[in-house]
Amino acid sequence: MSNSAKVWLVTGGSRGIGRAIVEKALAGGNRVAVLARSPNKSNNEKQLNLIADVSDEAQLTAAIEQIISQWGRIDIVVNNAGLHRGGKASRLDLEDWEAVLQTNLTGALQVIRATESHLERGASIINIGAVVGFRGFPGDAAYASSKAGLAGLTRALAIEFASRDIRVNLVIPGLVLTDMTSGLSEKAMDSMRAMIPLGRLGTAMEIADVVHSVASATYMTGAFIPVDGGLMSTFGLPG
Ligand code: NAP
Repeated sequence: MSNSAKVWLVTGGSRGIGRAIVEKALAGGNRVAVLARSPNKSNNEKQLNLIADVSDEAQLTAAIEQIISQWGRIDIVVNNAGLHRGGKASRLDLEDWEAVLQTNLTGALQVIRATESHLERGASIINIGAVVGFRGFPGDAAYASSKAGLAGLTRALAIEFASRDIRVNLVIPGLVLTDMTSGLSEKAMDSMRAMIPLGRLGTAMEIADVVHSVASATYMTGAFIPVDGGLMSTFGLPG
């Protein structure tokens, strides 16, 4: 391993955007802990597969202990695990609301709390947001609230951790075809594509490329970074 190789923790790294972040980190010679609820079939000598639910503090603590006992440190934490459940507010099942908030917002906080004491100066935390955290879409109350909350958490912790030189940033993907979005109808896809200035969906690797740049950007903290084909430019990003 080279001196510049890091220890990454990627939650939800078993598929979709998280998987691309993991593959890029492995290709760069880094060691990567991949955390998800289901067993992960992909294997690599520099990959540690961890089974845990981000909303379960005890499972998380045990998983982080595994990383520390194997590799002794964590340099980069990517809060990518995410859950989407739609439904208009009047009919939204409270269980769905809670599951989405527990995974996307409370889960991110718990991962940060479980890893914080192992992060040294120069460490980087990257939260994965979503455009709907900034722009309302009907039927997305739970997901939008969780991602808006994650934006607030990002800025609060960027200030809290700045004196320790631990950076906290929010990468905001646009629409990417993954398990999370595969249920969208062709019609919904077409109308969303029509809103994107670059006129196409993103790829998981295009998001991963930016996550990796942010991980190494030593003077960036509390930033919101859209990777969305220009979608957020069509309505503006709050400053
Ligand atoms: P995905 O394909 O559905 O993958 C989700 C990942 O999160 C899986 O590895 C899943 O594994 C894991 N996960 C879900 N709940 C978890 C929990 N409670 N604890 C631990 N791991 C959990 O999703 P994706 O599209 O790649 O999305 C990745 C991130 O990007 C999410 O935060 C999502 O909100 C965000 N995002 C996606 C898009 C898009 O268009 N795809 C757009 C904007 C933002 P298990 O099921 O095995 O736990």
